[in-house]
This record gives sequence, C-alpha cells and structure tokens, in this order.
Amino acid sequence: MADVIIAGSGPTGLMLACELRLAGVDVLVLERLAERSDKSRAGGLHARSVELLDQRGIVDRFLAAGRAMPLAHFAFMHLDIEDFPTRHPYALAMHQTRIEQLLEERALELGVRLRWAAEVTDLRQDETGVEVEISGGQGTERLRADYLVGCDGGRSVVRKLTGIGFPGTPATLTALLGDVTLTDPPSEVVFGPEGRRENGFFMAFHSEHPGMYRVITVEFDKVTDRDAPVTLETLSEACAKIAGTDFGMHSPYRLDRFSDACRLVDTYRAGRVLLAGDAAHVHFPSSGQGLNLGLQDAVNLGWKLAAVVRGQAPEELLDSYDAERRLSTERMLNNIRAQTAIWRASTQADALRQVFSDLIEFDDGNRYLGGVISQLDTYYPVGDGHPALGRRMTDLDIKSPSGQVRVYELLHVARPVLLDLTGRSDLRAALDGWTDRVDHVEAEPQDDHWAFPVIGDVPAPAAVLIRPDGHVAWAAPAAPVGSAVPQTATADLRSALTRWFGPARAS
Ligand SMILES: Cc1cc2nc3c(=O)[nH]c(=O)nc-3n(C[C@H](O)[C@H](O)[C@H](O)COP(=O)(O)OP(=O)(O)OC[C@H]3O[C@@H](n4cnc5c(N)ncnc54)[C@H](O)[C@@H]3O)c2cc1C
Repeated sequence: MADVIIAGSGPTGLMLACELRLAGVDVLVLERLAERSDKSRAGGLHARSVELLDQRGIVDRFLAAGRAMPLAHFAFMHLDIEDFPTRHPYALAMHQTRIEQLLEERALELGVRLRWAAEVTDLRQDETGVEVEISGGQGTERLRADYLVGCDGGRSVVRKLTGIGFPGTPATLTALLGDVTLTDPPSEVVFGPEGRRENGFFMAFHSEHPGMYRVITVEFDKVTDRDAPVTLETLSEACAKIAGTDFGMHSPYRLDRFSDACRLVDTYRAGRVLLAGDAAHVHFPSSGQGLNLGLQDAVNLGWKLAAVVRGQAPEELLDSYDAERRLSTERMLNNIRAQTAIWRASTQADALRQVFSDLIEFDDGNRYLGGVISQLDTYYPVGDGHPALGRRMTDLDIKSPSGQVRVYELLHVARPVLLDLTGRSDLRAALDGWTDRVDHVEAEPQDDHWAFPVIGDVPAPAAVLIRPDGHVAWAAPAAPVGSAVPQTATADLRSALTRWFGPARAS
C-alpha cells in the first residue's frame, strides 16, 4: 500500500517521486528493469530544468557532474540566451544516465521506495484507489494506492490500460542510433547542419562510452516497423547511403531506433490514473526537449497531487495539471514539427531555414525562440492582471528578517510562499487559515522592476504568491513602499489561496 504508485523510474518518475516525498506523501516507484540502464538518450538539461533543480536545492550536484554550454538551438541555428535574466543562462550537458543516477540518489535520500524488476502489467481503479498488478522476480503481485502515475515512457502500458487516446501525427522518417567503434572516424565530430544531405542527415560524435562514437542516421520519407530490431548492418547501410561512408563501424554496444511521430494524450488524467513525461507526449528529439518536458510535468503535478492526497485540496486541482501542461507541450510540439520541417533538404526547407536564421538575428526573434527552447518562457494562464502572473518567478536576492536569501532558496521545501514586500502587516491577516500550508516571508523591496525572459522588465509587485513549482499565482499591484494593499487585491489573494491550496482552515 502507498499513497501514490509511480510506474517507471526514468527522469520523470524520479523527479515526481521527489516532489511528492517533499510534501510528505508515501511513494512507491515500480521499475520494469532489473537495474538502471547505462544507455543514455538525452544529453542535457535546458536552463529552466537547471532552475527547477536550483529551486529544490540540488543544483550543485548536477553542476558538478555536467558542463555548462551554449547549446540552445532551433534546428541547429544557435540561440543566444546568455543575457537572459536567470542565474543559469546555458544548457547543462550531461548524459541521461547520470541525470537519472542523481535524481535516484535524491529520491532515496527523501525516503522514496523504489522497486526494480517490477513491471506494471495490469490495473483496475475504483472510487477509492487503484489496484496495480506487477510481474517480476517475485511472480505476480497486486499492490494498491490512492493514485497511480504512469511515467513509463512513450509506449506506456499505463496509458494503454487506461484507454487514454494518443492522437497526433505518425512517423514520416526512420532514425537509427548506435554507440559503435569507428575504425575511420570523421576528422571532426558531426553534430549539426553539416550532416544534412539530400536524402537525410547523419551525426557522429563521442558517445558516453569511452572510445566509442554515437552515430545517428535519419532517412526522410521512409517509415519502418518501429519494433524491427536494428542491426549493425542496417545502421552501416543507412550511414553509407547518407554520409557516403560507414566510418568503419563495428562492435556496437547499443543499437536503437526512434522517429518523428508526434503525439499528445487526449487527457492527462482518467480518474485516479495520471500520466507524465513521454507517457503523455512523444516527438522527434530535435533541440533536446523530452526529458526537460518530463521534469516540468513532474514539478507541475507533484505539489497538486500531494495536496489532493493529503486532503488539503479538492480533486479538481488536478485538472489544472492537464490544462497547464497541455498548453506548454502543444507549443513545444509545434516548435519541434517546425524544426523537423527545416531539417529536410529541399529548396523550400532551405528557404525556411534562411528566413528563421534572419529572424534570429533580431533580438525579438532570438528572445522568442530562446524562451521556448530553454523552457524559461513556460507560462501558465492563472488569470489576468500583473504581467508576472503565471510566469516562473525570477530568482531575486531579497533581504528578509533572517538575512539575505534568494527566492529559490525559499522554495527548497516545495511549499508555497507569500513574498511580502509591502512593509506592512495587512497580508499577514489575509493569510489567516492557510498558515499551515503557505509560508509568509516579509522582505525589503529592492528593485522597481523585475526582469523576465521574453517579456522583459515588469513593474515590481508589492507582493507575490509563489506556487511550489515556482510560478506566480497572485501578484499585488506595484505600489510605493508602506502603502496599503487595496482590499480588492487582498480578496484576490484569498481566492488565489483557495484555488491553489484549498479552503482556509477554521482557526
Ligand atoms: C536519440 C534521442 C535523444 C534524446 N535527447 C534528448 C535531449 O537531449 N534532451 C531531452 O530533454 N530529451 C531527449 N530525448 C528524449 C528523452 O530521452 C525522453 O524524453 C525521456 O527519457 C523521457 O523520460 P521519462 O521518464 O518520461 O520516460 P523514460 O525515460 O522512457 O522512462 C520510462 C521508465 O519506465 C520504465 N517502464 C516502462 N514500462 C514499464 C512498466 N510497464 N512498468 C514499470 N516500469 C516501466 C522504463 O524501463 C523506464 O525506466 C532524446 C530521445 C532520443 C530518442
């Protein structure tokens, strides 16, 4: 028995498990594999993901294991995010296996229970919970939880068993991947437009396995059976066809395939079963977004599911998970489809590439695309009013009675924060009934304006309510220090508190 069972210990499942544990929820993660795979797919974290780790106080271990690099690009057209207002204006290059190891380490520190060789094979839900059937080393077993979250990847069994639809566009290309030894490697690594050819494109760069190369081939307008095994011969033939040589590949450590099928679930939730990460969306890995989207799903869902499980908020709060993540993910899938179109070799695609390359030269074009690709522009439509509403809170330095702190330090425990820069005690009274769930931090105002990626500078509000995922749920109007917060704004604050953190507790 657990409060929440998570199927899958990939990056999404592990991050979600950490978020739930931080809120005191009992979590069991079930993983089909007997041990962690050392065959990475993703190669890094975008800026917003690095911020998410910073919000939870674990960024240092990732920074020590990765390498900060200017990797944000749109179809391999470089985007300059160095001047974006964030403490992390870069991508952090590191292999997926390492990301998973660090998240697993954190999950275990927090008390997450993780079971290997436990494959979810069936499920049944009723009004009070979900029964999950697993098979593995100990035969078949049935486990029960209040909620089940499928973080079990693109071919999610949880999604299929729940009957959740997965509409989208089918594959139009065949992509093969191999970690192989090359007798005759290219003189320089191929990782960008230089690998584009008329019939597809290829990449050849150092793999995570010492001495090996990762070779990727993409053949346009060729759809193959996604379950057909990849052999060294198939990869070698594809590479020779596209690159003109197979670089003398041999001794494969790993061979795989992927495609540009692009799909998003028709609902993220069916009763007590939810989906997150690749289980909810798949797409071509252009510009390295999938793992990062999964982390954002986890951080959006974690605190909401925890509040529902603990009886603090009504189940309807979970509907905002679908609404908010759908909006961001649809935008990303669209962006990725556009990138894939530009990758093609045709006069039209070349023209499109030129147009985008010209647009990126303009600050606005670079900022717009840089905001999407770094995921720093993730925005949730929480309501109208102050321009900071729904945006990820900027990591201000603030002077509070307990000393100088950063806003992200206030979020380490994953609790909501009312950041009060009014210099008055009016808001303390407005928080009556929520002090068990919401932290009130009074600080001295420091700047007239706050800087956000993409939207730029906005007038500093006199107070903000920050959700545990770091997004702004309510903002008071900007006002001179010491002036009263208008009564309408205080009433808005109380309705935002009710909406996001449940009804006030009678004192
Ligand atoms: C070539 C390539 C390159 C990529 N590069 C990037 C990149 O640079 N950046 C990026 O952000 N993304 C990248 N991605 C995408 C990224 O790898 C995925 O988006 C990410 O792994 C999704 O994480 P997840 O936890 O949702 O799912 P997964 O990583 O697929 O994890 C699912 C887990 O569930 C387990 N599981 C499956 N079924 C069951 C079951 N029935 N019961 C129990 N456990 C189960 C699996 O064993 C697995 O451990 C790339 C993908 C590819 C193919």
